[in-house]
Amino acid sequence: MHKMFTVVLVVCGLTVSLGCSSGSGQAEVSSSSGQVATSSAATQTATTQTAAATQTAAAAQTATQTASATQTVAIPAAPPIELTSIDAVCESRDGYIYCTSNVLAAPSEATIGWGELSGVSPEVFCATDITTQVCEWMTRGLLAAISRWGNYAPVEYWVLGADYAGYEGLMAANCVRRIERGQMRQSDCDRKHGPDGNHGFYSYWELGSDSVASGRPGGSAGLNGDRQWGIHFFTSSLPVGLTDYFEVNGLNEQKTLHHEYFHGVQHAHIYTKDRYQRDKLLGPVWFNEGAAEYMAHVALKEGRASGLIDMVKTEGRWSFEFEEEMGYKMQAWERNSLTCPGLKLKDMTYQNSCNNSSYDLGTWAHAYLANKYGATVLLNTYYPMLNDVSDWEEAFVATYGISSDEFLAEFDEFLELSLSEQMEILPK
Ligand SMILES: [Zn+2]
Repeated sequence: MHKMFTVVLVVCGLTVSLGCSSGSGQAEVSSSSGQVATSSAATQTATTQTAAATQTAAAAQTATQTASATQTVAIPAAPPIELTSIDAVCESRDGYIYCTSNVLAAPSEATIGWGELSGVSPEVFCATDITTQVCEWMTRGLLAAISRWGNYAPVEYWVLGADYAGYEGLMAANCVRRIERGQMRQSDCDRKHGPDGNHGFYSYWELGSDSVASGRPGGSAGLNGDRQWGIHFFTSSLPVGLTDYFEVNGLNEQKTLHHEYFHGVQHAHIYTKDRYQRDKLLGPVWFNEGAAEYMAHVALKEGRASGLIDMVKTEGRWSFEFEEEMGYKMQAWERNSLTCPGLKLKDMTYQNSCNNSSYDLGTWAHAYLANKYGATVLLNTYYPMLNDVSDWEEAFVATYGISSDEFLAEFDEFLELSLSEQMEILPK
């Protein structure tokens, strides 16, 4: 019933260094919408391998870039306010579309501390071949996530399209900003976002361009740093769920926006600039990605119920229901586990994740933790503790009262239950 389209949704993408996982090249693949997992396995694996192969070079490149960055990003120290509106305002600028909150001030000339809640608007930059309407929807989705989890600024969200001229315009705007703020040299920016760059704009543009050319909707988004610059820098390929190219449910994009922004929330709770230490605090893939994915799914479920989430482009056959999606994740693991005998969740990495089972199982692991210990523990207890511990395990034990090994043993038993029994732990 969900086989009408071949959809490859690669979410949170090929992120390097200070992104979703500090120092780790990665390919994130969403198995949202059950049709993804089986039909696109080959594509997913190829993407993962590419990420692994380019990881080292990218890390070196990023190190070079950040070494020359000494200037603090200028952002106003607007006091935090409760965001009660996700209304956005957009304008066409020279070479790109620019959207901000309609009620929050756009960033200007002051600074805010890392991890402090603020009252400034995120900034969304879209390529000119993305319509203003789509850019506005993206901004509203981001603002919905911000209104839920708090405004950890500064946020820059860059959205590529399928058109080459649009890529060029967006890249030019980004490089002007990076250079003006003393964060990059022109040559570094050109290389980063050119064909040979790693997780640069070219690679995100290429994904959208390939999708349109092939008729196979796919994409990627990622938090690509940057603690060194003091900003949360996101990049997205063509948001296939919101454009008119494909019949893909727009809620996929909303979920992705929430998943990505939750990575920003995670990173906002880690102050150190030491990449090794940031990795230790982010924790293993299943915990880090599972948290982003689970929190995004719950946010979407509850945001739909409350009316916060825009129901745009949701007509059609993909309902994107919470329980259905969670069921797909468990079924995907049942299939994938046959190809990865003996691979334990704790040992999965971005490069060795059993076709992204670390995401699917990680999502369920967080569902299990939220059910047993309470839905607010992760955000109210675990993350605020991260700056006071030496690694994630210490925070895990302090939060949940057992070691992660003990938890995973318990979770293994849960995985033996029937799907209907497993579904009983999900929030209603
Ligand atoms: Zn992620």
